[in-house]
Amino acid sequence: MITVEDATAQVLSRISVLKPERVPLLAALGRVLAEDVISDIDVAPFDNSAMDGYALRHADVEGATEQAAVRLAVIEHIPAGVQPQKMVGAGQASRIMTGAPVPVGADAVVRVERTRPCEGQGGPGGSVQILTSAKLGENIRGRGEEVKAGDAVLLIGEVVGPAAVGLAASVGHADLAVHRRPRVAIVSTGDELVDVRQKPGPGQIRNSNSYSLAAQVVDAGGEPHVLGVARDTEESTRALLGRAGEFDLMVTTGGVSVGDFDVVKKVLEEIGELDFWRVAMRPGAPQAFGTIGGTPFFGLPGNPTSTMVGFELFVRPAMLKMAGFTSLFRPRVNATLTHDVSKKVDRRYFLRARLVPSGDGTYSVAAADNQSSALLTAMHRGNCLLSLPEGESFIPAGSTVMCIRLDMGEGTA
Ligand code: AMP
Ligand code: MG
Repeated sequence: MITVEDATAQVLSRISVLKPERVPLLAALGRVLAEDVISDIDVAPFDNSAMDGYALRHADVEGATEQAAVRLAVIEHIPAGVQPQKMVGAGQASRIMTGAPVPVGADAVVRVERTRPCEGQGGPGGSVQILTSAKLGENIRGRGEEVKAGDAVLLIGEVVGPAAVGLAASVGHADLAVHRRPRVAIVSTGDELVDVRQKPGPGQIRNSNSYSLAAQVVDAGGEPHVLGVARDTEESTRALLGRAGEFDLMVTTGGVSVGDFDVVKKVLEEIGELDFWRVAMRPGAPQAFGTIGGTPFFGLPGNPTSTMVGFELFVRPAMLKMAGFTSLFRPRVNATLTHDVSKKVDRRYFLRARLVPSGDGTYSVAAADNQSSALLTAMHRGNCLLSLPEGESFIPAGSTVMCIRLDMGEGTA
């Protein structure tokens, strides 16, 4: 048996980052950039008004107040998207809308709330009273203030969030080079498995693992390919495991313990390479890892919770690495254990548990009563995996313990 750390390190050492692909802007959301994104223009592209108001010469309104308003002649109305035609001279102003180009001659904008219209409602040919002074450049967004043409606005390795999508759009990129989503093959094994639409007969159970795994793959940013069920024969198992090469990664469930019908390990040794198959952990000590024709292969145990915990600890970080992420692990937090726990001394435990904030920045944590690895309820109701180290057999209430937050993404700590 190897430790969880050694298993994780072995897995990650076998994983390489997938090749980039160019995808439409919106499809890049949540993915990792494979190249810098360079702007083709200055942003802002021209000096423009940050407010609805009047473009004027700041020297004209020096010392202006409510009581000592300065009257300016209005020479033009400039909506957004329209090029100004007139130069603003001394004693003049142009009515201007947010985002409209600042006319030549003007060096500040006073917002409309600090003005009072006179003749002609403050429109062209009329006049306006300015009730405040203005600083040079006030309310003007300068050309190239945010970005200069040729600047990189997004950097290789950055994760594309909504603001990055907007930035890329503003600098003329309709598509982006990002790392590929891992294509993950999912195979369940077992003679007892029936489809979700079927009522299980005697000795049968529904194949829930294909679904929970596919959901975990989607949740980790991958593309699940459910290949179906391998029966507990070498031929059936070989037929599905032999397809590993069509995918970036293959995950199977069941058939890796020492039961008479556990053929996954046997077939893997025959058509691929087995790196390890037992990890000192609970749930799910049998965790096979290897490669089939160069494709990383995970043989997770069959019990539904063991399957999900194995995915969480080993497959998810591997998928994130493939997709170009550098933060591969969920945030961890210390919490005070609310009850005693007895455990096997030689195993790391990952209890399904609920972390509750105490209000002062600390947390308490309680494990679900029923820790059977056959039950998904505790996994569903919990929000963390409570990790208890090997080397201990009894952890008393009040101890400080470490929890892996399943309710937060990597890089959000
Ligand atoms: P195994 O590792 O094949 O011995 O399976 C361990 C336990 O997990 C058995 O009780 C199986 O019936 C159950 N199991 C295996 N595969 C699945 C699956 N795809 N969906 C739900 N339960 C499963
Ligand atoms: Mg089985």
